[in-house]
Amino acid sequence: MEGGDVVTKVIDARDLSARAAELGAALTQDYHGTKPVFVTVMSGALWFVADLVRQVDLPVEVDFLMLNRFGEGGRIRIATDTATALTGRDVILVEDIVDTGLTLTVLRKLIAEREPASLKTVALIDKVPRRLVDVPIEYRGFEVGDEYLVGYGLDHRGLYRNLADIWAVLDLEAFQAAPDALARVALTGS
Ligand code: 5GP
Repeated sequence: MEGGDVVTKVIDARDLSARAAELGAALTQDYHGTKPVFVTVMSGALWFVADLVRQVDLPVEVDFLMLNRFGEGGRIRIATDTATALTGRDVILVEDIVDTGLTLTVLRKLIAEREPASLKTVALIDKVPRRLVDVPIEYRGFEVGDEYLVGYGLDHRGLYRNLADIWAVLDLEAFQAAPDALARVALTGS
């Protein structure tokens, strides 16, 4: 175990890169003859989409949207929309992590209302045991347990997105008490 009892590395940068290449190859094959638009859910999926689309050998467009959570039940709405009109397009939604599945369910519904030609999802991480609603994920990077993850786009209170690897937080209290020390562990491995 790297990082001690507080954080542990769960997905290495090399494995992230290799998986992006595999998913990119699958998408290249499946979307042959089309010009899909990758709709990236900001900000967490930014790192993943950048690696992913560089492995797709097709004329692709890349666009972004930002979600806003509000209310007690964590209702979501699109705070910043895509610049591209999605009607009639082959839309590939790019998510960093699917946890309960609620966000993706709402998002798919909102995008489907625009009547794209097709709609599929690529999620880097699928937290299978946490799922509350059954939602289709056509392409997934990694299946994980119920650990809280940071790094490679995933943040905790805005920090750690810049880590090259993905880390699980084993002790959230200790993690929050010494954020700088832990960032150092993650960045240098010492
Ligand atoms: P869901 O609606 O599926 O429960 O939640 C999805 C969102 O929750 C993700 O897009 C992400 O923003 C956040 N999330 C879920 N699990 C984690 C995690 O382990 N680490 C981080 N940083 N965010 C998470």
